[in-house]
Amino acid sequence: MKNLWNDADAEKMVADYAKKGVDGDLALRVYTTRLLGGEPRLVLHGGGNTSCKTRATDLVGDEWDVLCVKGSGWDMAVIEPQGLPAVKMGALLKARALTELSDEDMVALQRSNLIDPASPNPSVETLLHAFLPHKFVDHTHSTAILAIVDQEDSKALVKRVFGDRLGYVPYIKPGFDLAKVAAEVFEADPSVEGLILDKHGIFTFGDDARQAYDRMIHYVNVAEEYVAKNGKPKAAKAALPAKLAKASDIAPMLRGAVAVARGEGRFDRMISDFRTSDAIIDFINSAKIAELAGRGVSTPDLSIRIKTGPMAIPAPDADKLGDYKAVIRSHVETFAKDYQAYFETNDALDDVKRTMLDPMPRLTLVPGLGMFGHGRTLKDAKIASDVGEMWIEAVRGAEAIGNFQPLSKVDLFPLEYWSLEQAKLASNKPKPLTGQVVLITGGAGAIGAATAKLFAANGAHAVIVDLDPAKAAEAAKAAGNNSIGVGADITDPAEMRAAFDKAVAVYGGVDILVSNAGAAWEGRIGELDDATLRKSFELNFFAHQSAAQNAVRIMLEQGTGGVLLFNTSKQAVNPGPKFGAYGIPKAATLFLSRQYALDYGAHGIRSNAVNADRIRSGLLTDAMIASRSGARGVSEKEYMSGNLLGQEVTADDVAQAFLHQALAERTTADVTTVDGGNIAAALR
Ligand SMILES: [Zn+2]
Repeated sequence: MKNLWNDADAEKMVADYAKKGVDGDLALRVYTTRLLGGEPRLVLHGGGNTSCKTRATDLVGDEWDVLCVKGSGWDMAVIEPQGLPAVKMGALLKARALTELSDEDMVALQRSNLIDPASPNPSVETLLHAFLPHKFVDHTHSTAILAIVDQEDSKALVKRVFGDRLGYVPYIKPGFDLAKVAAEVFEADPSVEGLILDKHGIFTFGDDARQAYDRMIHYVNVAEEYVAKNGKPKAAKAALPAKLAKASDIAPMLRGAVAVARGEGRFDRMISDFRTSDAIIDFINSAKIAELAGRGVSTPDLSIRIKTGPMAIPAPDADKLGDYKAVIRSHVETFAKDYQAYFETNDALDDVKRTMLDPMPRLTLVPGLGMFGHGRTLKDAKIASDVGEMWIEAVRGAEAIGNFQPLSKVDLFPLEYWSLEQAKLASNKPKPLTGQVVLITGGAGAIGAATAKLFAANGAHAVIVDLDPAKAAEAAKAAGNNSIGVGADITDPAEMRAAFDKAVAVYGGVDILVSNAGAAWEGRIGELDDATLRKSFELNFFAHQSAAQNAVRIMLEQGTGGVLLFNTSKQAVNPGPKFGAYGIPKAATLFLSRQYALDYGAHGIRSNAVNADRIRSGLLTDAMIASRSGARGVSEKEYMSGNLLGQEVTADDVAQAFLHQALAERTTADVTTVDGGNIAAALR
């Protein structure tokens, strides 16, 4: 691992922060914290922490010795000074005399001694940092270090690899007890340059930022070299089917299998992030991958991301894809059963009241293909994949030099079910569509874009399909929530299929279709040329059918229901003069919606239509509004609000109707009218 310290960069950071009133110690603390945080083999997504001991002044001008320590929720790679809240050292040091201190009291003590009460919670490893005398303390979960500490005889191995230069601390759950023991290990030999925490990670320290950082990189390199020199040949590879299925073939099956069934056809769905590389495949093709996955996480804080460890399933045979869904389901069932047993056994060991988290895996290893990270949002799914890559790094190293033997599940349990973590999860309320994927055709138009925005605000990830890829991307950006834009001519079945494939590739599947794209052609029906009518049918009927077929194909693989929503327009029930080319296929699409409701209701797939009229959009442009209102001798405002309510109807009103239909879990074969009231178009 390369030492990235650079004098010029360090000086520049000190100078830049000096202008903002940040002292040099803290500026350098930010500098090396970012260097450590930018390397996934050292720390990942909130793991690891750093500190420096300095002085700070409070609001009344009193100066204090403080520990600036990483705050919870901050990512080291992008840390700022406010991510290193200052805690008064006096109180922290006094705590060492206590015989016990609960996690809740520890947090209270730390919070009540913050210089700025608006700061995030100081790290749970704050006391460990405070009890060590060094000005700078760095802590990481280096994968190379984990390869050495995740062994049965780790204590002897640590001694063999690092000699007396690093102290050895047996495994203790992070918090007050660990801080005390770590301080005692240091005091027994104050010449050490760092501490190895069994089954957990490494601390290094120094008088200045550079010394602590240099020591971290040095000892990580010592570990890396040891693993490289002493690695034994790799385990045998499992036999793979002659013809492997593709990741996109199995993604919806897997996504459906890991959704949490809430009963009565309701599910908490997850997003799947597929990731692969030569390194991933080389490792997961091992004949013993399922056994390695079962041994657990490489460092305890990964349990917050991937629970007790990954789930491994067999490689999918392209010729036996029909049976593979059952294979996935049985593996997920076993994982969930084992998780429940793990919870029940360990929960029974004390009187603490806990709620079991959902028992579904967060990381699935598929030999021959790669891995899927699962999470309630795309961000969480990607984090699970990141964690998976580093789990592989650590386990590969551990297996090369011995036998991967991580923290036992009994010791892992209190960490996964830490009261502080449980409180954090409880406050993390999902939105109505969290975990769901909506695909919207005509997604960059007025109604499509308004619908994408509203669904994304309600937690869904939107796949915005539009003829114009740039506009689709723009609408996706406006919708937010990691939505994506896809350019496609949806009257071409291959392009429609590709748009759905993209949804599966990015999110793992589709739960909601908003089949919205449409265009109008005018002409008296008796004189209309055949080509125009057929062209209109391609877009206003067949594209709806092709979208629905693709959506249903994926929904059936997932087995978690879904909903098809069609924009059918008022023309479907109340024809306008010279609008036959538009109204006739729309009428067919209205019945298409009912046919899907009838044919797929038994699979939990609902189908509804929105019957909208007179919406300012690409179909009814400002120029058209001017010409039509002129032709009728009314003002534009009168024309647009010519309905029973006397109010203009907007794209947002249509979006609200689609959202309502998506959320109304017992509503199917419904038509919702969004036209401000048009009695001639009212349905029976
Ligand atoms: Zn740690």
